[in-house]
Amino acid sequence: MIKTRFAPSPTGYLHIGGVRTALFSWLYARKHGGQFILRIEDTDRERSTEESVNAILEGMSWLGLDYDEGPFYQTHRFARYQEVIQQLLESGHAYYCYATREELEQLRQAQKARGEKPRYDGRYRDFTGTPPQGIDPVIRFKNPLEGEVVIDDLVKGRVVIKNSELDDLIIARSDGTPTYNLTVVVDDWDMGITHVIRGDDHLNNTPRQINILKALGAPIPQYAHIPMVLGEDGSRLSKRHGAVNVLQYKEAGYLPEALLNYLVRLGWSCGDQEIFSIDEMVELFSLEAVNTAPSTFNPEKCLWVNQQHIQRSSGEHLARHLAPFITDRGGDLDAGPALAAVAELFKERSKTLLEMADQALYFYRDFDQFDAAAAKKHLRPAAAAPLTTLKSKLEALNEWQADAIHAAIQQTAAELEVGMGKVGMPLRVAITGTGQSPSIDQVAALLGREKVLARLEKALAFIAQRKAMAN
Ligand code: GLU
Repeated sequence: MIKTRFAPSPTGYLHIGGVRTALFSWLYARKHGGQFILRIEDTDRERSTEESVNAILEGMSWLGLDYDEGPFYQTHRFARYQEVIQQLLESGHAYYCYATREELEQLRQAQKARGEKPRYDGRYRDFTGTPPQGIDPVIRFKNPLEGEVVIDDLVKGRVVIKNSELDDLIIARSDGTPTYNLTVVVDDWDMGITHVIRGDDHLNNTPRQINILKALGAPIPQYAHIPMVLGEDGSRLSKRHGAVNVLQYKEAGYLPEALLNYLVRLGWSCGDQEIFSIDEMVELFSLEAVNTAPSTFNPEKCLWVNQQHIQRSSGEHLARHLAPFITDRGGDLDAGPALAAVAELFKERSKTLLEMADQALYFYRDFDQFDAAAAKKHLRPAAAAPLTTLKSKLEALNEWQADAIHAAIQQTAAELEVGMGKVGMPLRVAITGTGQSPSIDQVAALLGREKVLARLEKALAFIAQRKAMAN
């Protein structure tokens, strides 16, 4: 069975480049009926924080990237790592290295002076003498000296590295703690990972990891190294290029599936289709179709994809994600119409849920003030008569429905011999507080008779006050 993993280091927020890696791993597992696991690589105790772990968990859950096992924490697995290090020492695949910091620095300088690439020279590899006093040794892996490592990468194709290019890497520090390459190998092995899908910044670790796996007699997983995501200036994607913390997208009102859709298209394509549902992504994804070149993050495109998903979503679906934005803005969901109906009315005009919440807040919260420019233009003394007439017609309506409201507006305009706009616009400002909204009869229908009449009353008082002040 196929088993993939996402293995973030909790040293900051969950970066969207990391999320794309997680998504590819998740899609691959889901597509093949396999399993996806989450592993928190928290062995760097100085840089790992609980806050960051929580951000990872929250991000994964918001995005719906569910895992079948985990989260596993590497800090809970130190005993196992020690056991494997011991095994490697006993089988002659690892050794203690007593070289001091100064010694290694001298080596490095000498190599540099000779124009060579700095690397450990294996000076303790076959050491059998008496260990020097007062030195806590590190433990190094005995990398094979001859031959080569062949990686048939599912994205990059065949990559061949000569063992002569690899030095003996440290697998345990002088304080005994295991290093990244060791912990990853042990975990991928113990957790039965069949496909390691990760950023190509790890490609240089892969031959070392394969050699350790071989020394342990462990199966070698398949590898897929995904090209990086770059900013528009061609440098590695960072804060300078816009929001890179996945939770910022949640706060900015993105739908999780829209962000995933944007991310899946960064480095993967399927014809010229741009918009994918989660089910389509699972069905269509393949590693063969992942680009070998880096991709460029484009915030405007990401926003466009979000808008497309909002337009295609049902009101019910939008309502689930929209609700917290309304309550965060002081709206009371019980005090207004069904949120799904409101979302349905607004989905063609909002690029984000945050925008939608701002645009639709008047359904759930009374406003204190009219938008100044809209009120100045439309709540004028001349609007008093249309609003008064309209109000009495609305009071008398049998059925509070959009078409009946529309008819009342029409009749008012006809009776007073004014254009529809002279009724509709003051009504809009009166009940929404602003000069912009979806079709006003539909807004009024959803808002409900009681609120519409009360707000008309308020607008008429505002006009009267304005008139009094002008006199
Ligand atoms: N913890 C590593 C990172 O965050 C990932 C290791 C891996 O995928 O093998 O870069």
